[in-house]
Amino acid sequence: MRFKQFLVIGLGRFGTAVATTLYELGHEVVAVDVEEENVQDVMNLVTHAAIVDATEERALRNLGISNFDVVIVAIGTNIQANILATVAAKTSGARYVVSKAVDDVSRRVLEKVGADLVIRPEHDMGVRLARQLAMPNLFESLDLGSDYSVVELDVGDRLRGTLKDLNLINRFGVQVIAINHNGHVEVTPRAEEVISAHDKIVVVGANHSVEELRRYLND
Ligand code: ADP
Repeated sequence: MRFKQFLVIGLGRFGTAVATTLYELGHEVVAVDVEEENVQDVMNLVTHAAIVDATEERALRNLGISNFDVVIVAIGTNIQANILATVAAKTSGARYVVSKAVDDVSRRVLEKVGADLVIRPEHDMGVRLARQLAMPNLFESLDLGSDYSVVELDVGDRLRGTLKDLNLINRFGVQVIAINHNGHVEVTPRAEEVISAHDKIVVVGANHSVEELRRYLND
């Protein structure tokens, strides 16, 4: 893995979690906030922390903003400061800006002013939790945008035979990318690989296709 350089603006609960986790993962992290106390709190948990008002373009330029791989604007409740900081980051040459929105209106504004990715942590976590709870057979899932996902399913006793014979790609539109035979995981299985009762399979596909297969397995 190539280690990257991140700038985290706004050290509330969300910004602090992002900054300290990236640092723990070995990346270079500069963390800034207008409040001295918040900066003090993360001082020893990131590469460098500083008091900066991110709505000031000059202050961002002084940080060498164009050198960072990713800038995360984690200012939440002060929507005006969030928008101004996002604009300032883009106009100062930031390559990839992730902005945190508190609601749908600010999400749209942030997208309009040039944020490369807008996240709504509470909304996004809510959707994720609901999907996990709504799919009882789901052990683990990974969203690939809003339409596709990678999901682990328990095959129960509905599927038996080789991948070739089961032909899930044509029957359901999903591709099997791993089979878990009681703890032994076969990644990128071949067509001759056999699925037995109570194996788990990891599939990738459109959400509706994965859902159709899940229902078939549960029937
Ligand atoms: P959370 O919900 O993640 O705790 P908050 O909105 O409470 O998010 O925290 C946002 C942080 O952003 C606060 O620590 C605040 O001091 C900081 N902040 C607000 N305005 C600016 C600004 N102009 N420049 C830098 N940091 C800011």
